[in-house]
Amino acid sequence: MGRSEELFQEAVNYMPGGVNSPVRSFGAVGGIPRFITKADGAYLWDEDGCRYLDFIGSWGPMLLGHNHPKIREAVVEACGRGLSYGASTKIEVDMARLLCEMVPSVEMVRMVNSGTEAVMSAVRVARGYTGRDKVIKFDGCYHGHSDGLLVKAGSGVMTQGEPGSAGVPKGCTQDTLTAPYNSLDSAKAHFMREGSKIAAVVVEPVAANMGVVLPQPGFLQGLRQLCTQYGAVLIFDEVITGFRLGTAGAQGLFGVEPDLTTFGKIIGAGMPVGAYGGKRCIMERVAPLGSVYQAGTLSGNPVAMAAGFAQLGILKQRPEIYDMLKANGDYFFGRLEKVVRKAGLPYQVNHIGSLGCLFFTGTKVVDYESAGTSDTDAYARYCRHMLGQGIYLAPAQFEAVFLSAAHTKEQLDGALAAAESYFLAG
Ligand SMILES: *Cc1c(COP(=O)(O)O)cnc(C)c1O
Repeated sequence: MGRSEELFQEAVNYMPGGVNSPVRSFGAVGGIPRFITKADGAYLWDEDGCRYLDFIGSWGPMLLGHNHPKIREAVVEACGRGLSYGASTKIEVDMARLLCEMVPSVEMVRMVNSGTEAVMSAVRVARGYTGRDKVIKFDGCYHGHSDGLLVKAGSGVMTQGEPGSAGVPKGCTQDTLTAPYNSLDSAKAHFMREGSKIAAVVVEPVAANMGVVLPQPGFLQGLRQLCTQYGAVLIFDEVITGFRLGTAGAQGLFGVEPDLTTFGKIIGAGMPVGAYGGKRCIMERVAPLGSVYQAGTLSGNPVAMAAGFAQLGILKQRPEIYDMLKANGDYFFGRLEKVVRKAGLPYQVNHIGSLGCLFFTGTKVVDYESAGTSDTDAYARYCRHMLGQGIYLAPAQFEAVFLSAAHTKEQLDGALAAAESYFLAG
Protein backbone atom coordinates (compact mmCIF):
# COMPACT_ATOMS: atom_id res chain seq x y z
CA MET A 1 0.00 0.00 0.00
CA GLY A 2 1.33 3.42 -0.97
CA ARG A 3 1.49 6.51 1.24
CA SER A 4 -1.47 8.15 -0.54
CA GLU A 5 -3.58 5.08 0.10
CA GLU A 6 -2.56 4.97 3.77
CA LEU A 7 -3.34 8.64 4.20
CA PHE A 8 -6.68 8.28 2.44
CA GLN A 9 -7.66 5.38 4.71
CA GLU A 10 -6.86 7.57 7.68
CA ALA A 11 -8.52 10.63 6.16
CA VAL A 12 -11.91 8.96 5.78
CA ASN A 13 -12.04 8.50 9.55
CA TYR A 14 -11.78 12.19 10.21
CA MET A 15 -13.21 13.99 7.17
CA PRO A 16 -16.40 13.26 5.20
CA GLY A 17 -15.21 11.21 2.25
CA GLY A 18 -11.66 11.87 3.38
CA VAL A 19 -11.61 15.28 1.69
CA ASN A 20 -12.39 18.95 2.13
CA SER A 21 -14.12 19.29 -1.27
CA PRO A 22 -16.08 16.48 -2.94
CA VAL A 23 -14.40 16.11 -6.35
CA ARG A 24 -11.02 15.47 -4.70
CA SER A 25 -12.26 12.09 -3.47
CA PHE A 26 -11.96 10.51 -6.95
CA GLY A 27 -15.46 9.14 -6.33
CA ALA A 28 -16.45 9.78 -9.96
CA VAL A 29 -13.53 7.89 -11.52
CA GLY A 30 -12.52 5.40 -8.85
CA GLY A 31 -9.08 4.84 -7.41
CA ILE A 32 -7.16 6.50 -4.64
CA PRO A 33 -6.78 10.28 -4.49
CA ARG A 34 -3.15 11.33 -4.71
CA PHE A 35 -1.92 13.21 -1.65
CA ILE A 36 0.25 16.01 -2.94
CA THR A 37 3.46 17.14 -1.27
CA LYS A 38 4.68 19.83 -3.63
CA ALA A 39 4.14 21.53 -6.96
CA ASP A 40 6.40 23.41 -9.32
CA GLY A 41 5.71 24.77 -12.81
CA ALA A 42 3.39 22.31 -14.53
CA TYR A 43 4.18 19.40 -12.19
CA LEU A 44 2.79 17.94 -8.97
CA TRP A 45 4.50 15.37 -6.73
CA ASP A 46 2.65 12.99 -4.45
CA GLU A 47 3.46 11.30 -1.13
CA ASP A 48 4.83 8.27 -2.98
CA GLY A 49 7.31 10.40 -4.91
CA CYS A 50 5.42 10.13 -8.22
CA ARG A 51 5.45 13.14 -10.51
CA TYR A 52 2.39 14.24 -12.50
CA LEU A 53 1.90 16.71 -15.32
CA ASP A 54 -0.91 18.80 -13.87
CA PHE A 55 -3.94 19.75 -15.98
CA ILE A 56 -6.02 21.03 -13.07
CA GLY A 57 -3.90 23.88 -11.73
CA SER A 58 -5.78 23.89 -8.41
CA TRP A 59 -9.01 24.17 -10.50
CA GLY A 60 -7.85 27.30 -12.24
CA PRO A 61 -5.89 29.65 -9.98
CA MET A 62 -2.40 28.60 -11.08
CA LEU A 63 -2.47 30.33 -14.47
CA LEU A 64 1.27 31.02 -14.34
CA GLY A 65 2.09 27.54 -13.08
CA HIS A 66 2.92 26.40 -9.56
CA ASN A 67 5.41 28.04 -7.26
CA HIS A 68 6.00 31.08 -9.46
CA PRO A 69 9.05 32.82 -7.95
CA LYS A 70 7.58 36.36 -8.08
CA ILE A 71 4.35 35.28 -6.41
CA ARG A 72 6.15 33.20 -3.80
CA GLU A 73 8.48 36.10 -2.96
CA ALA A 74 5.53 38.48 -2.57
CA VAL A 75 3.83 36.05 -0.19
CA VAL A 76 6.95 35.37 1.87
CA GLU A 77 7.60 39.10 2.13
CA ALA A 78 4.01 39.73 3.28
CA CYS A 79 4.20 36.89 5.84
CA GLY A 80 7.17 38.57 7.45
CA ARG A 81 4.93 41.47 8.41
CA GLY A 82 2.19 39.47 10.14
CA LEU A 83 -0.66 37.42 8.72
CA SER A 84 -3.73 39.56 9.34
CA TYR A 85 -4.65 42.84 10.99
CA GLY A 86 -8.40 43.23 10.48
CA ALA A 87 -7.65 46.76 9.37
CA SER A 88 -7.08 48.54 6.07
CA THR A 89 -3.85 48.09 4.12
CA LYS A 90 -2.26 49.69 1.07
CA ILE A 91 -2.21 46.41 -0.85
CA GLU A 92 -6.04 46.36 -0.79
CA VAL A 93 -6.11 49.73 -2.53
CA ASP A 94 -3.47 48.55 -5.02
CA MET A 95 -5.47 45.40 -5.72
CA ALA A 96 -8.79 47.23 -6.14
CA ARG A 97 -7.23 49.79 -8.49
CA LEU A 98 -5.56 47.08 -10.56
CA LEU A 99 -8.81 45.11 -10.89
CA CYS A 100 -10.70 48.22 -11.97
CA GLU A 101 -7.99 49.10 -14.48
CA MET A 102 -7.91 45.63 -15.99
CA VAL A 103 -11.68 45.09 -16.18
CA PRO A 104 -13.32 48.26 -17.51
CA SER A 105 -16.86 47.32 -16.38
CA VAL A 106 -15.66 47.19 -12.78
CA GLU A 107 -15.69 50.65 -11.19
CA MET A 108 -15.74 49.50 -7.57
CA VAL A 109 -14.91 46.16 -6.02
CA ARG A 110 -15.26 44.28 -2.71
CA MET A 111 -12.84 41.49 -1.81
CA VAL A 112 -14.16 38.30 -0.20
CA ASN A 113 -12.66 34.87 0.56
CA SER A 114 -14.09 32.55 -2.09
CA GLY A 115 -15.99 32.42 -5.34
CA THR A 116 -19.05 31.17 -3.46
CA GLU A 117 -19.04 34.27 -1.29
CA ALA A 118 -18.51 36.52 -4.31
CA VAL A 119 -21.57 35.25 -6.21
CA MET A 120 -23.77 35.03 -3.12
CA SER A 121 -22.92 38.64 -2.32
CA ALA A 122 -23.35 39.88 -5.89
CA VAL A 123 -26.84 38.39 -6.00
CA ARG A 124 -27.68 40.08 -2.69
CA VAL A 125 -26.49 43.44 -4.03
CA ALA A 126 -28.50 42.96 -7.23
CA ARG A 127 -31.60 42.27 -5.14
CA GLY A 128 -30.95 45.24 -2.89
CA TYR A 129 -30.37 47.49 -5.86
CA THR A 130 -33.47 46.46 -7.82
CA GLY A 131 -35.78 45.76 -4.90
CA ARG A 132 -36.67 42.48 -6.65
CA ASP A 133 -36.20 38.86 -5.57
CA LYS A 134 -36.00 36.54 -8.57
CA VAL A 135 -32.78 35.39 -10.19
CA ILE A 136 -32.30 33.52 -13.46
CA LYS A 137 -29.51 30.95 -13.57
CA PHE A 138 -28.65 28.44 -16.27
CA ASP A 139 -28.67 24.67 -15.92
CA GLY A 140 -25.18 23.28 -15.47
CA CYS A 141 -23.64 26.58 -14.38
CA TYR A 142 -22.01 26.42 -10.96
CA HIS A 143 -21.95 29.56 -8.88
CA GLY A 144 -20.62 28.17 -5.61
CA HIS A 145 -22.50 26.29 -2.92
CA SER A 146 -24.78 29.02 -1.52
CA ASP A 147 -28.35 27.78 -0.96
CA GLY A 148 -30.16 29.80 -3.60
CA LEU A 149 -27.82 28.84 -6.43
CA LEU A 150 -27.59 25.09 -5.79
CA VAL A 151 -30.10 24.33 -8.51
CA LYS A 152 -28.89 22.26 -11.46
CA ALA A 153 -25.45 23.45 -10.52
CA GLY A 154 -23.14 21.36 -12.69
CA SER A 155 -20.09 19.22 -11.99
CA GLY A 156 -20.10 18.20 -8.31
CA VAL A 157 -23.89 18.30 -8.13
CA MET A 158 -24.82 16.88 -11.54
CA THR A 159 -27.85 15.13 -10.20
CA GLN A 160 -31.50 15.87 -10.88
CA GLY A 161 -34.07 17.49 -8.63
CA GLU A 162 -34.53 20.93 -7.15
CA PRO A 163 -32.82 21.95 -4.90
CA GLY A 164 -29.65 20.16 -5.98
CA SER A 165 -28.61 19.39 -2.43
CA ALA A 166 -30.19 18.05 0.74
CA GLY A 167 -30.36 20.67 3.45
CA VAL A 168 -31.50 23.45 1.16
CA PRO A 169 -35.05 24.50 2.09
CA LYS A 170 -37.44 24.90 -0.83
CA GLY A 171 -37.88 28.48 0.32
CA CYS A 172 -34.28 29.22 -0.54
CA THR A 173 -34.62 28.24 -4.18
CA GLN A 174 -38.19 29.41 -4.86
CA ASP A 175 -36.85 32.64 -6.37
CA THR A 176 -34.30 30.85 -8.56
CA LEU A 177 -35.55 30.51 -12.13
CA THR A 178 -33.63 28.17 -14.39
CA ALA A 179 -33.13 28.00 -18.13
CA PRO A 180 -31.00 25.85 -20.43
CA TYR A 181 -27.57 27.33 -21.18
CA ASN A 182 -27.51 29.02 -24.58
CA SER A 183 -31.30 29.26 -24.67
CA LEU A 184 -32.03 32.94 -25.01
CA ASP A 185 -35.66 32.07 -25.72
CA SER A 186 -36.06 30.45 -22.30
CA ALA A 187 -34.57 33.48 -20.57
CA LYS A 188 -36.84 35.71 -22.62
CA ALA A 189 -39.87 33.65 -21.61
CA HIS A 190 -39.03 34.17 -17.93
CA PHE A 191 -38.79 37.91 -18.49
CA MET A 192 -42.05 38.03 -20.40
CA ARG A 193 -43.80 36.17 -17.60
CA GLU A 194 -42.40 38.09 -14.63
CA GLY A 195 -39.83 40.61 -15.83
CA SER A 196 -40.73 43.13 -13.14
CA LYS A 197 -39.76 40.64 -10.42
CA ILE A 198 -36.39 39.60 -11.84
CA ALA A 199 -33.45 41.15 -10.00
CA ALA A 200 -30.62 39.49 -11.89
CA VAL A 201 -29.41 37.08 -14.51
CA VAL A 202 -26.31 35.23 -13.36
CA VAL A 203 -24.29 33.33 -15.93
CA GLU A 204 -20.88 31.83 -16.54
CA PRO A 205 -19.97 33.65 -19.79
CA VAL A 206 -18.17 30.44 -20.76
CA ALA A 207 -19.63 27.53 -18.81
CA ALA A 208 -16.81 25.50 -17.26
CA ASN A 209 -18.55 23.43 -14.61
CA MET A 210 -20.39 20.97 -16.89
CA GLY A 211 -17.25 20.41 -18.84
CA VAL A 212 -16.56 23.42 -21.04
CA VAL A 213 -19.50 24.82 -22.99
CA LEU A 214 -19.11 27.94 -25.12
CA PRO A 215 -21.75 30.63 -25.41
CA GLN A 216 -23.32 30.54 -28.84
CA PRO A 217 -23.12 33.74 -30.89
CA GLY A 218 -25.69 36.21 -29.61
CA PHE A 219 -26.40 34.46 -26.29
CA LEU A 220 -24.46 36.84 -24.02
CA GLN A 221 -25.44 39.86 -26.12
CA GLY A 222 -29.09 38.80 -25.86
CA LEU A 223 -28.87 38.49 -22.08
CA ARG A 224 -27.34 41.96 -21.95
CA GLN A 225 -30.23 43.31 -23.98
CA LEU A 226 -32.91 41.58 -21.87
CA CYS A 227 -31.40 42.85 -18.61
CA THR A 228 -31.22 46.40 -19.94
CA GLN A 229 -34.77 46.23 -21.26
CA TYR A 230 -36.25 44.92 -17.98
CA GLY A 231 -33.99 46.77 -15.55
CA ALA A 232 -32.37 43.60 -14.22
CA VAL A 233 -28.72 43.28 -13.20
CA LEU A 234 -26.52 41.17 -15.48
CA ILE A 235 -23.97 39.26 -13.42
CA PHE A 236 -21.10 37.51 -15.17
CA ASP A 237 -19.64 34.83 -12.93
CA GLU A 238 -16.03 35.02 -14.08
CA VAL A 239 -14.63 32.99 -11.20
CA ILE A 240 -13.01 30.70 -13.79
CA THR A 241 -12.86 32.89 -16.90
CA GLY A 242 -11.68 36.08 -15.18
CA PHE A 243 -8.01 36.70 -16.04
CA ARG A 244 -7.92 33.34 -17.85
CA LEU A 245 -9.45 34.31 -21.19
CA GLY A 246 -7.71 37.69 -21.24
CA THR A 247 -6.89 40.60 -18.95
CA ALA A 248 -10.57 41.56 -19.06
CA GLY A 249 -11.86 37.99 -18.92
CA ALA A 250 -14.70 36.63 -21.05
CA GLN A 251 -16.42 40.02 -21.10
CA GLY A 252 -13.39 41.53 -22.80
CA LEU A 253 -13.17 38.66 -25.25
CA PHE A 254 -16.84 38.72 -26.25
CA GLY A 255 -17.28 42.47 -25.92
CA VAL A 256 -20.32 42.25 -23.63
CA GLU A 257 -20.38 44.39 -20.51
CA PRO A 258 -22.13 43.00 -17.43
CA ASP A 259 -23.34 45.19 -14.55
CA LEU A 260 -21.60 43.08 -11.92
CA THR A 261 -18.76 40.56 -12.19
CA THR A 262 -17.61 37.93 -9.74
CA PHE A 263 -14.03 36.71 -9.49
CA GLY A 264 -12.16 33.98 -7.65
CA LYS A 265 -9.49 31.41 -8.40
CA ILE A 266 -6.88 33.37 -10.46
CA ILE A 267 -7.25 36.60 -8.46
CA GLY A 268 -5.96 34.72 -5.40
CA ALA A 269 -3.13 32.92 -7.25
CA GLY A 270 -3.75 29.93 -4.96
CA MET A 271 -4.81 31.82 -1.85
CA PRO A 272 -8.49 31.85 -0.78
CA VAL A 273 -9.78 34.99 -2.49
CA GLY A 274 -12.94 36.08 -4.26
CA ALA A 275 -14.26 39.46 -5.34
CA TYR A 276 -17.34 41.09 -6.77
CA GLY A 277 -17.55 44.44 -8.44
CA GLY A 278 -19.11 46.47 -11.17
CA LYS A 279 -21.05 49.65 -11.77
CA ARG A 280 -20.48 52.33 -9.18
CA CYS A 281 -24.21 53.01 -8.75
CA ILE A 282 -24.78 49.36 -7.81
CA MET A 283 -21.66 48.85 -5.68
CA GLU A 284 -22.52 52.00 -3.69
CA ARG A 285 -25.39 49.99 -2.22
CA VAL A 286 -22.90 47.84 -0.30
CA ALA A 287 -22.35 48.50 3.43
CA PRO A 288 -21.02 50.71 4.96
CA LEU A 289 -22.02 53.05 2.13
CA GLY A 290 -25.38 51.42 1.47
CA SER A 291 -27.93 49.14 3.07
CA VAL A 292 -26.80 45.80 1.60
CA TYR A 293 -24.84 44.10 4.36
CA GLN A 294 -21.77 42.03 3.55
CA ALA A 295 -18.62 41.61 5.64
CA GLY A 296 -15.60 39.37 6.25
CA THR A 297 -13.08 39.00 9.07
CA LEU A 298 -10.30 37.98 6.70
CA SER A 299 -11.49 39.77 3.55
CA GLY A 300 -8.65 41.54 1.76
CA ASN A 301 -6.15 39.58 3.85
CA PRO A 302 -2.66 41.04 3.27
CA VAL A 303 -0.98 37.72 2.43
CA ALA A 304 -3.75 36.72 0.01
CA MET A 305 -3.71 40.18 -1.59
CA ALA A 306 0.07 39.96 -2.01
CA ALA A 307 -0.32 36.70 -3.95
CA GLY A 308 -3.16 37.91 -6.14
CA PHE A 309 -1.63 41.31 -6.78
CA ALA A 310 1.64 39.71 -7.86
CA GLN A 311 -0.11 37.37 -10.31
CA LEU A 312 -2.40 40.03 -11.80
CA GLY A 313 0.52 42.44 -12.00
CA ILE A 314 2.46 39.98 -14.15
CA LEU A 315 -0.58 39.43 -16.39
CA LYS A 316 -1.11 43.16 -16.83
CA GLN A 317 2.54 43.73 -17.67
CA ARG A 318 2.78 40.80 -20.04
CA PRO A 319 -0.53 40.45 -21.93
CA GLU A 320 1.36 38.41 -24.54
CA ILE A 321 1.00 35.53 -22.05
CA TYR A 322 -2.59 35.26 -23.30
CA ASP A 323 -1.43 34.89 -26.91
CA MET A 324 0.85 32.08 -25.81
CA LEU A 325 -1.92 30.42 -23.75
CA LYS A 326 -4.30 30.65 -26.70
CA ALA A 327 -1.72 29.21 -29.10
CA ASN A 328 -1.03 26.35 -26.68
CA GLY A 329 -4.74 25.76 -26.15
CA ASP A 330 -5.47 25.73 -29.88
CA TYR A 331 -2.57 23.33 -30.40
CA PHE A 332 -3.36 20.97 -27.52
CA PHE A 333 -7.12 20.68 -27.93
CA GLY A 334 -6.84 20.68 -31.72
CA ARG A 335 -4.40 17.77 -31.58
CA LEU A 336 -6.54 15.97 -29.01
CA GLU A 337 -9.48 16.15 -31.39
CA LYS A 338 -7.30 14.72 -34.18
CA VAL A 339 -6.28 11.87 -31.87
CA VAL A 340 -9.86 10.81 -31.14
CA ARG A 341 -10.83 11.15 -34.81
CA LYS A 342 -7.85 9.00 -35.81
CA ALA A 343 -9.13 6.38 -33.38
CA GLY A 344 -12.53 6.56 -35.10
CA LEU A 345 -14.29 8.01 -32.06
CA PRO A 346 -17.00 10.69 -32.35
CA TYR A 347 -16.02 12.43 -29.09
CA GLN A 348 -16.43 16.18 -28.70
CA VAL A 349 -13.64 18.60 -27.88
CA ASN A 350 -14.88 21.97 -26.64
CA HIS A 351 -12.28 24.62 -26.01
CA ILE A 352 -11.50 28.29 -25.77
CA GLY A 353 -8.01 29.58 -25.07
CA SER A 354 -6.39 27.65 -22.21
CA LEU A 355 -9.69 26.08 -21.13
CA GLY A 356 -11.19 22.99 -22.67
CA CYS A 357 -12.54 19.49 -22.27
CA LEU A 358 -13.12 16.18 -23.98
CA PHE A 359 -16.70 14.87 -23.85
CA PHE A 360 -17.15 11.16 -24.41
CA THR A 361 -20.20 11.58 -26.62
CA GLY A 362 -21.08 11.91 -30.29
CA THR A 363 -23.57 14.66 -29.47
CA LYS A 364 -22.50 18.26 -29.91
CA VAL A 365 -22.34 19.71 -26.38
CA VAL A 366 -24.08 23.08 -26.06
CA ASP A 367 -25.86 22.80 -22.71
CA TYR A 368 -26.44 20.70 -19.61
CA GLU A 369 -28.63 18.15 -21.35
CA SER A 370 -26.16 17.45 -24.14
CA ALA A 371 -23.26 17.38 -21.64
CA GLY A 372 -25.22 14.70 -19.80
CA THR A 373 -24.98 12.37 -22.82
CA SER A 374 -21.28 11.87 -22.11
CA ASP A 375 -20.20 8.34 -21.15
CA THR A 376 -18.80 8.95 -17.68
CA ASP A 377 -17.53 5.36 -17.33
CA ALA A 378 -15.46 5.83 -20.48
CA TYR A 379 -14.12 9.08 -19.05
CA ALA A 380 -13.24 7.31 -15.79
CA ARG A 381 -11.23 4.64 -17.63
CA TYR A 382 -9.40 7.30 -19.64
CA CYS A 383 -8.69 9.37 -16.54
CA ARG A 384 -7.27 6.38 -14.63
CA HIS A 385 -5.11 5.42 -17.61
CA MET A 386 -3.70 8.92 -17.92
CA LEU A 387 -3.00 9.08 -14.19
CA GLY A 388 -1.02 5.87 -14.55
CA GLN A 389 1.01 7.63 -17.24
CA GLY A 390 1.74 10.56 -14.94
CA ILE A 391 -0.94 12.84 -16.43
CA TYR A 392 -3.16 14.44 -13.79
CA LEU A 393 -6.61 15.20 -15.25
CA ALA A 394 -9.72 16.20 -13.33
CA PRO A 395 -11.17 13.12 -11.62
CA ALA A 396 -14.61 13.82 -13.15
CA GLN A 397 -15.98 14.26 -16.67
CA PHE A 398 -17.75 17.52 -15.99
CA GLU A 399 -14.65 19.50 -15.11
CA ALA A 400 -12.36 21.51 -17.34
CA VAL A 401 -8.80 20.91 -18.47
CA PHE A 402 -6.78 23.93 -17.36
CA LEU A 403 -3.56 24.80 -19.18
CA SER A 404 -1.04 27.12 -17.55
CA ALA A 405 1.68 29.36 -18.90
CA ALA A 406 4.17 26.86 -17.44
CA HIS A 407 3.13 24.03 -19.78
CA THR A 408 5.70 23.55 -22.54
CA LYS A 409 5.01 22.16 -25.99
CA GLU A 410 7.06 19.08 -25.07
CA GLN A 411 4.89 18.46 -22.02
CA LEU A 412 1.70 18.89 -24.05
CA ASP A 413 3.08 16.47 -26.66
CA GLY A 414 3.78 13.96 -23.89
CA ALA A 415 0.18 14.11 -22.71
CA LEU A 416 -1.09 13.83 -26.31
CA ALA A 417 1.08 10.76 -26.87
CA ALA A 418 -0.37 9.13 -23.74
CA ALA A 419 -3.90 9.90 -24.95
CA GLU A 420 -3.10 8.60 -28.45
CA SER A 421 -1.71 5.29 -27.20
CA TYR A 422 -4.82 4.86 -25.03
CA PHE A 423 -7.39 5.63 -27.71
CA LEU A 424 -5.60 3.77 -30.50
CA ALA A 425 -5.25 0.69 -28.31
CA GLY A 426 -9.07 0.86 -28.04
C1 LIG B 1 -15.21 27.64 -8.54
C2 LIG B 1 -16.40 28.45 -8.91
C3 LIG B 1 -17.20 29.12 -7.96
C4 LIG B 1 -17.00 28.91 -6.49
O1 LIG B 1 -15.77 29.36 -6.04
P1 LIG B 1 -15.18 28.77 -4.66
O2 LIG B 1 -13.95 29.57 -4.46
O3 LIG B 1 -14.95 27.31 -4.89
O4 LIG B 1 -16.21 29.01 -3.63
C5 LIG B 1 -18.20 29.96 -8.40
N1 LIG B 1 -18.42 30.14 -9.72
C6 LIG B 1 -17.69 29.51 -10.66
C7 LIG B 1 -17.95 29.77 -12.10
C8 LIG B 1 -16.68 28.63 -10.28
O5 LIG B 1 -15.99 27.96 -11.22
